[in-house]
Amino acid sequence: MFDVIVVGGGPAGLSAALVLGRCRRRVLVCDAGAPRNRRSQALHGYLTRDGIAPADFIAAGRGELGRYDVALRHGVATRACRSTDGSAFEVTFDTGPVERATYLLIATGVADEVPAVPGLAACYGRSVFHCPYCDGWEWRDRRLGVLADGVSGARLAISLKTWSADVVVVPFQARGGRLSSAWRERLAANQIVIRGAPAVALHHSDGLLRDIELRTGERVPCDALFFAMPQHPQSPLAVSLGCMVNDKGTVTTGRLCHTNVSGVFVAGDASHDAQYVVVAAAEGFKAGLAINRALQERLIGHE
Ligand SMILES: Cc1cc2nc3c(=O)[nH]c(=O)nc-3n(C[C@H](O)[C@H](O)[C@H](O)COP(=O)(O)OP(=O)(O)OC[C@H]3O[C@@H](n4cnc5c(N)ncnc54)[C@H](O)[C@@H]3O)c2cc1C
Repeated sequence: MFDVIVVGGGPAGLSAALVLGRCRRRVLVCDAGAPRNRRSQALHGYLTRDGIAPADFIAAGRGELGRYDVALRHGVATRACRSTDGSAFEVTFDTGPVERATYLLIATGVADEVPAVPGLAACYGRSVFHCPYCDGWEWRDRRLGVLADGVSGARLAISLKTWSADVVVVPFQARGGRLSSAWRERLAANQIVIRGAPAVALHHSDGLLRDIELRTGERVPCDALFFAMPQHPQSPLAVSLGCMVNDKGTVTTGRLCHTNVSGVFVAGDASHDAQYVVVAAAEGFKAGLAINRALQERLIGHE
């Protein structure tokens, strides 16, 4: 019996485990080993760790937990439910026995859809990105492309003007979404060109983008490409437990990461706040704090 089972060992889950370990709680962290930014070369915007390789960041976090009563298990949590007497959560894994805990923290993150354009997969995380805050600075003043349709693409293109004057929008043929004349005027006012034909391939050298091939055969020179695509929760566990989700598909949480389901907390990208490593780690800390407080409250009982 653990005090807490943390499902997901990314920045959110590891950070929660650190707080809980320091509070002398018995913690199990179960992780499938596929953090959202695993294709990225460098993690940016985390004070004191700006530019670290994502895998090194996770390895350092796991290493720090060695000092505490935190068990790390590789595997997928496939099911979570309340025990029949209601006193605990039971979590089933793809490997190993069913485990029980008083509280459950879900920190399973999200997965991004990636445009199915030939050449893009090889560039993803090297010269193709989706977040200017994470990777815009490295490509400042370079030729930037936006692969997206509709208003989301137009908004992303205008936001990229913060980093470069040279921004072009290339439609993504699998998704429709024409722009209104008002949006076209906004793009033109910001000297952003929209290409008429969709992208059919990215040409690159070892993942570094050279140009975007359009359906007309024309090639648009480009150093880095940003895209806007939907995302999905990595795991259905929170929903299966009855957690409320918002229209983005992430879980609605309170100030200290509690959900509408008693005893279930959600932190990191799987919840509703801004999706960055430093935010995920902070949410993990808050969830750990809230869970420890709840365990302390059990000592007081009912007044
Ligand atoms: C290409 C790219 C680059 C990025 N660059 C940056 C950057 O520079 N700076 C920045 O701040 N943010 C960046 N981000 C965003 C950042 O990756 C996320 O905000 C952060 O990883 C969220 O942490 P998390 O702990 O919530 O989720 P994750 O890091 O995604 O971790 C979730 C973990 O849960 C595991 N998991 C999922 N389901 C289960 C299950 N059922 N059982 C067990 N384990 C499970 C996964 O395998 C994973 O290890 C980037 C994202 C991408 C896609």
